[in-house]
Amino acid sequence: KTFKDLGIVDSLCEACNRLGYKKPTPIQQESIPLALQERDIIGIAETGSGKTVAFALPILQALLEKPAPLFALVLAPTRELAVQISQAFEALGSQISLRCALIVGGMDTMQQAIALGKKPHVIVGTPGRLLDHLETTKGFSLRNLRYLVMDEADRLIDQDFGPILEKILKFLPRERRTFLFSATMSSKVESLQRASLRNPLKVSI
Ligand code: AMP
Repeated sequence: KTFKDLGIVDSLCEACNRLGYKKPTPIQQESIPLALQERDIIGIAETGSGKTVAFALPILQALLEKPAPLFALVLAPTRELAVQISQAFEALGSQISLRCALIVGGMDTMQQAIALGKKPHVIVGTPGRLLDHLETTKGFSLRNLRYLVMDEADRLIDQDFGPILEKILKFLPRERRTFLFSATMSSKVESLQRASLRNPLKVSI
């Protein structure tokens, strides 16, 4: 199947084409049609499977249908991964004037507060710094967030981000879609899943 067969709109199919993505990877084949039906998803997939594009395309498509600021939040366990994810969003979103902010530790907090003040469509970050901004940056609210992604959930938990994630969840609306991606399932990942996803469909490759 092509990206178009999976239900992806032409402008995003073109973006995939430009980036050399000729055909969806297995995790994309499985998860994109479900994500487009607005279901919560647990994706069991390793890095290298194409999981970033698997969650980015449905989010960008929903954003195109109903543009809104502060639309999606993607949480990742490391700065490096957050950088890669934000680059993927920027590459796919380059023709649709997507605004994406990177909110990670070790970078200037004031500049990040300014970036958040510009109301990006997508925020990609690490949990600690994102929570700092939710707690202290004036005027920054995720009350209208539509999509939450927790990427590499097993690593988020290994790095003891569990309590921080719980706090972040309290700042988010219940009416949202949530995608959780993890290379492995464990009892801790399952309890994070129960705390954050509603009626999820599981996709594994
Ligand atoms: P990820 O698993 O998200 O880290 O992606 C691994 C790599 O696969 C990245 O460099 C992507 O740019 C690339 N990629 C994602 N989707 C596709 C696709 N459908 N065809 C070819 N490469 C892809």
